[in-house]
Parts: sequence; C-alpha cells; structure tokens
Amino acid sequence: MTLRVVVLGPPASGKGTQSARLAEACDLEHISTGDVLRDAVEAGTSLGRAAEPHMEAGELVPDELVVDVVGDRLSRSARYVVDGFPRTVGQAERFDTPIDLAVVLEVPREELVRRVTGRRICPEGHTYHVEFDPPEQPGVCDVDGLPLERRDDDDRATLDRRLEVYEQQTRPAIERLAARARVVRVDGSGSPDEVAERLRGAIGAPHRD
Ligand code: AMP
Repeated sequence: MTLRVVVLGPPASGKGTQSARLAEACDLEHISTGDVLRDAVEAGTSLGRAAEPHMEAGELVPDELVVDVVGDRLSRSARYVVDGFPRTVGQAERFDTPIDLAVVLEVPREELVRRVTGRRICPEGHTYHVEFDPPEQPGVCDVDGLPLERRDDDDRATLDRRLEVYEQQTRPAIERLAARARVVRVDGSGSPDEVAERLRGAIGAPHRD
C-alpha cells in the first residue's frame, strides 16, 4: 500500500531520528535531504560543491538544486518517509506527488540549542548527544567505530540563522502542505523514545519493540 510521509521541524527537532524509527516501524524507505546533501558535499560532486556554502551559512540550498535530486529519488518509490523536504513554498509547489501525511515536530527553542550544541555525528550519519545519548566510548561511533564529529552547521550563530530560515521559509511551506495532506503536529520535546511513542499515538502507526 502506498504511504508517503514527510517529516518537518526546526533544526535538531529530531526529524532524522524519528523518521528513521517510523521507516523501521512501517517498512518505509527513509530519505533525508540533509543527508543527501551532506553526502554530496563529502563526495565533492557538483551538487555538493554548489550546496556547501549555503549549508555552512545556515541557509537553505536553492530550490532548483534540491527539487530535481529529491524528486528523482521520490518518483522511484511509493512508500517513503522524507525528512527535511519540502522546506520552502517553491519546493512544496514543485513537489506535486500526493502526500498522505505531514508530521511537524515542535520543540521549544532552548531545547533545540541544548540539542545542537551537544550533537555529534559519525561520517555514516549515526547521531549521538554528549549528554543525552552518549556513545559507549567518548568520540567514537558505537556502530562502526568511526570518529564522531560536530556537524559544520551546528554552532550557535549558524543555529540562530537556521531557526530564522525555518520561521521565514519552512512555516509557510507547511501551511501550503495543509491544503493537500493531513498535517499532524507532535510535541518533539523529551527523549527519542518519548517522542516516538507520542508520534505513534498521533498517527496510529504499529508498535514494534
Ligand atoms: P538537516 O539535516 O535537515 O537539518 O539539513 C541541513 C542543511 O541542509 C539545511 O540547513 C540546508 O542548508 C540543507 N537542506 C536540507 N534539506 C533542504 C531542503 N529541502 N531545501 C534546501 N536546503 C536543504
């Protein structure tokens, strides 16, 4: 059965974590535009070279660069959860595939600041937090033993800009989505388990232990 879900929310609201869990619970493909773009930067492709300065400044990557890449991935699947897209009114308008559900994670600003400043990732994308979700060995990924790093855009000044961009560009895109999808707003504060539980309750997804 088709199930097309988008997950949106401010930076560090848990989009990646909750989308991965939802993908697992509902057997969906998980596509993160942030990961697609970070991989392109890492690989030094032309997309990556064009996207990098925008990402480092906390700005969005221009629509024309994002829409084709993501649109191409999404057109190949009818069961997916996409996190971080569409993030502008332009993207929402050009992304004309039907959407069954849009999940919006809402988290107070002070909690986003705490999450961002302690977030660490491994080059394969596994995410930790120095205080709330530390790896067994400090600075080393539990899954693949790779060294953990801070994301380039996870400093305080860039976070402030990303939050501003979210309010100015992504909130209006969510308003647009409301016309064609069921929009469910979920309180994204607390632990990943607490949020996953709340999210399951809100959308009626199956339980998987
Ligand atoms: P995220 O991992 O979702 O927080 O995304 C990290 C960064 O990637 C954002 O701050 C943007 O620079 C870029 N990005 C991710 N998704 C999009 C999108 N749909 N449109 C434009 N830029 C994006």
